[in-house]
Amino acid sequence: MAYRSDAVHVRAPGKINVYLGVGHPHDDGYHSLATVFQAVSLFEDVYAYPSDDFSLEVTGDVDVSDVPTDDRNLAMRAAKMLAQATGVDAGVHLVIRKGVPVAGGMGGGSADAAAALVACDALWGTDVGSRGLHELAARLGADVPFTLHGGTAIGAGRGDELTPALARGRFDWVLVTSDQGLSTPEIYRSLDRLRGFGDAVAEDPPLSLDVPVGVLQALRAGDAHELAPVMHNDLERAAVLDRPDLELALADGVRLGALSGIVSGSGPTIAFLCADPEAARALQQELRATGREALHVHGPVHGAQLML
Ligand code: ATP
Repeated sequence: MAYRSDAVHVRAPGKINVYLGVGHPHDDGYHSLATVFQAVSLFEDVYAYPSDDFSLEVTGDVDVSDVPTDDRNLAMRAAKMLAQATGVDAGVHLVIRKGVPVAGGMGGGSADAAAALVACDALWGTDVGSRGLHELAARLGADVPFTLHGGTAIGAGRGDELTPALARGRFDWVLVTSDQGLSTPEIYRSLDRLRGFGDAVAEDPPLSLDVPVGVLQALRAGDAHELAPVMHNDLERAAVLDRPDLELALADGVRLGALSGIVSGSGPTIAFLCADPEAARALQQELRATGREALHVHGPVHGAQLML
């Protein structure tokens, strides 16, 4: 597809949860989280074209057949929310080129929303500033503020209360993607059931929710060997229950040379941490030889960024 020169182009990254601790469900369905996000070099590209009304099309390297193009699309919601918040009397035609697997646990839809906010703000000249963008992002979804900022960050609350985390150097990851996505709300519900949380969840004692110091130390040191044993995801057992094949994939990656493997977010994407770029390239090839789709990415990378 040719992209016209009157487009504003914004690129936003997918994310991995290096650590994901999940607390109780609240009445609104959200859970308290203690998480560490890292933005990785797998990107969504959003192009915003001047238009009188609102429309959207989706294309990409990944299967986009399940992505809605109406108001259910987070990027469309982002554009309309910005227009309403600023009173701008304009529309936009959005073209999303997806590089992040759909329903893969890597926040692709959130990246589209963050990119659409930045793109429309530039297209319309609304200039809401970084605080304004952050507020709108948090209203759109818990992962949207992080993809706006990128890098490595601790997420508290629903994941949207961000504190930047110092991460030295670069971490090499190999992602194993799946043809079939997983529904984030269903994985959270499944975890609640596994933990025996019934309707009386509000009365249950709170779970301790903190990111372990060891995770932050390993990131600060830029040391993949130190990070590997402390990576953790509370959602993993729920994702594996739904998709038992993930257990075999996790074991295969470690057997073939990964330092450690983790289900990303609500899955089913698996992120394998590798010692260095060479080890990641070798693992990617080994995993592909077993018939799996494997991608070598690195982090941390920038959040949503205008491409000039
Ligand atoms: P997260 O990790 O943030 O929970 P995810 O990476 O597992 O999410 P997404 O690809 O972001 O999943 O989207 C999940 C669902 O949301 C899709 O199946 C689709 O129905 C809907 N959706 C809405 N907007 C988008 C979008 N822009 N891109 C992809 N899916 C979208």
